[in-house]
Parts: sequence; C-alpha cells; structure tokens
Amino acid sequence: HDLRNEDLKDLQELGQGNGGSVKKVEHLPTGTIMAKKIVLIDAKPSVRKQILRELQIMHDCHSEYIISFYGAFISDPNICICMEFMDKGSLDGIYKKIGPIDIDVVGKVALAVLEGLTYLYDVHRIIHRDIKPSNILFNSKGQIKICDFGVSGELINSIADTFVGTSTYMSPERIQGAQYTVKSDVWSLGISLIELALGRFPFADSESDDSDLSDFEGTLSPSRPNPLSLPKQTKEQRDKKKKRKSKGVSLQGGGMTMSILELLQHIVNEPAPRLTPDGRFPKEAEDFVDSCLLKDPDQRKTPKDLLKHPWIEHARTSTFDLEAWASTF
Ligand code: ADP
Ligand code: MG
Repeated sequence: HDLRNEDLKDLQELGQGNGGSVKKVEHLPTGTIMAKKIVLIDAKPSVRKQILRELQIMHDCHSEYIISFYGAFISDPNICICMEFMDKGSLDGIYKKIGPIDIDVVGKVALAVLEGLTYLYDVHRIIHRDIKPSNILFNSKGQIKICDFGVSGELINSIADTFVGTSTYMSPERIQGAQYTVKSDVWSLGISLIELALGRFPFADSESDDSDLSDFEGTLSPSRPNPLSLPKQTKEQRDKKKKRKSKGVSLQGGGMTMSILELLQHIVNEPAPRLTPDGRFPKEAEDFVDSCLLKDPDQRKTPKDLLKHPWIEHARTSTFDLEAWASTF
C-alpha cells in the first residue's frame, strides 16, 4: 500500500508557504481525499532518502490533536508528504474570512495545541518548531489539529539552507540564537492566540499608516514589566533607526510596514504583546496569554504545565459546540 504519485489526482490548490505548496488530492485506488505537501529540496539523493526515513516517525503519531499521516515519497526534485485533509483549512484563513475568532473557540484552540504539543514531546520527544495559525487546522467535525511539526532533522536543515523568510512567531530566545525547546512553541502559541482573537497579527498596528516603529510601540501595553533584562536600545539607536529607510523584506499589516529586522528587534527589546484592550476578554484568557509570552524562557511554563491553567480547564469542560460553529462559514 505504498503511496505513488501516479495514484494521486490533483483536485485543488490549497495554499503556498515558504517550504512549498499544498494540494487537495484524491488517492484513486482507495478514493481517500488527502492533502499533498510538495517540498522542493535542493539536496543529494542520500539526504533525500534520509529525510524520507525520518519522516516515517509520523506513522507512529496518533493523537486526535495531530494531523494523520498517510505517507511520503520522493518525486524528483521534490519530497511529497501526504496527510489528512482538513476541509475547513487553517485558522489564518478562517479569521481572514470571518474576522476575529470568538474567545471560546480560541480557548479550544489553545487546549488542542497544548494537547498536541504535549503528546509530541512526551511520546516522541518532538518539538514542533513552527506553531502559527496556518499550521493549526480545522474541519467540519469541529476538530482542531496541528501539522508541519519538525520530525526530520535533515528536512529542517535542508529547508533552513534555502529559507528566505523568517518566522515572526519566533520567541525572543530563539531570535537571539538559543536552542529550541518546547517553551519556544509556547511563545508562538501565545502570539497565535492574540492574532486569532484580534483578527490581526499582534505586531501590526491597524490605526496607524505610519511606517515608523516608535509610533507603533505606543499601541502596545506598557504596563507589563519586562521580566528579562535584555539589552535595551539606546535613544541614539532608536533615532538612527528612524532615519534609516527600511529596504528589502518587509512585513505588511493593517497599513503599516516594518522590516523583518525591525520586527525581530522589537520582539527582543520591547514588552510582549497582550490580549488587549483590558476588559474585552476574560481575565483568565489574558492571564494565560501573559504566561505564554513571558520573555524569559525559564519563567515560561511547558505545554504540559499550561494544560492545568484555569482558562484551559474551562475550555476543556466548556459545552461550546465547535461542529455547529464550523457550519456557520
Ligand atoms: P504555511 O503553513 O506557511 O501557510 P504550507 O505550505 O505549510 O505553508 O501550507 C499552505 C496552506 O495549505 C496552509 O496555509 C493551509 O491553509 C493549507 N493546508 C496545509 N495543510 C493542509 C491540510 N492538511 N488540510 C487542509 N489545508 C491544508
Ligand atoms: Mg504549514
């Protein structure tokens, strides 16, 4: 029952990312609908084979919070990864279509991601490394599952070599070059949850069309003390930055533009974003997001510990009907 490219019929383009593209396909011999991810890898045949071997771990990943794996194969020069198709797509697509996501749903998302991360780490010692709304998928049964986790060290290396973009969900310690840990995923989860609840990426200011970062800083809540004493920028550095016109890669969000470098610097040097404005969201949700976004990884909890947070316990016992919600869009 090995998967072969000849047996897969293309049905629809699902999206494109940094690493490649994803298509909805039908496996003709069985009639199974799948999502086929095509990753272009510029590597020797031996490295490709190694990646394929490493991907086989996914056959052993069984959790209701993890996308199922059907198989992977080489289709020169690509590696194809076939996985469960999620008919409501990823959460970034959903909020871009319907606007900010109900905080009860966001709570269910947090619960599902924490369960998925805990499973991957406790059972397989896998760290996800790429938590973001486009890697959290939803279906019409009301299930929430994570995909695109870092199972293959060789694949991570190969993509890193050809990588053009920089993940804006990256934790401050990762930006500064520290090792990946499960706590880096927790940071990325915190950023993702704010994005879903606000309906926009938290590091972009929708009220301002000024590209100056110092204006945009004012929109972040200054009330939260910075728990980690990171090298602060001097006034001089800030002024210099103001004069410099950002060229090259830039990030667009709600009318403002800042370069990736400025954004990464911002994540490292400024207080973390919060679930604001105060009072709009339940206190427990605000507190949960705050604990995901502690800048010092030593203070930040692991996914397993965060499963005990009151907001997550609330999400677990909540009777909110995700299947009914899914039928509204
Ligand atoms: P990224 O995650 O950076 O957006 P990907 O190449 O991983 O890039 O995925 C592209 C898009 O394909 C995603 O944004 C998502 O909407 C869609 N997608 C990925 N996997 C699936 C899947 N299993 N089922 C349905 N849609 C998917
Ligand atoms: Mg993805």
